[in-house]
Amino acid sequence: MTYVVTENCIKCKYMDCVEVCPVDCFYEGENMLVIHPDECIDCGVCEPECPAEAILPDTEDGVEEMLEVNKEFADKWPNITQKGEQAPDAEDWDGKADKFKEHFSPNPGEQG
Ligand code: SF4
Ligand code: SF4
Repeated sequence: MTYVVTENCIKCKYMDCVEVCPVDCFYEGENMLVIHPDECIDCGVCEPECPAEAILPDTEDGVEEMLEVNKEFADKWPNITQKGEQAPDAEDWDGKADKFKEHFSPNPGEQG
């Protein structure tokens, strides 16, 4: 089992999650984060920290597609352990529909 970052993270990227992860298994894309499924130890402490409620356990229905995205991009993007700067319009994007389809970026994040 692992926790999964789902599409509501896109363009929110509040990053409250990264600072609490005991094994530093978050990776940063241009406009969202992912969790490395092989590194996550399932502690669950990140889930309530996410103001966008974007982090879910992989036992939840409907997360399969995003689990694959987390797996693929955790190998491609840089590791992130410290909270960065949140986008100024992050709150406006919270809860928007079809974010993955319309706004997902495969580009890596900046902090590296
Ligand atoms: S706190 Fe939630 S929305 Fe923010 S970066 Fe982490 S998973 Fe994404
Ligand atoms: S469940 Fe624990 S180990 Fe997994 S990403 Fe969240 S904080 Fe890190």
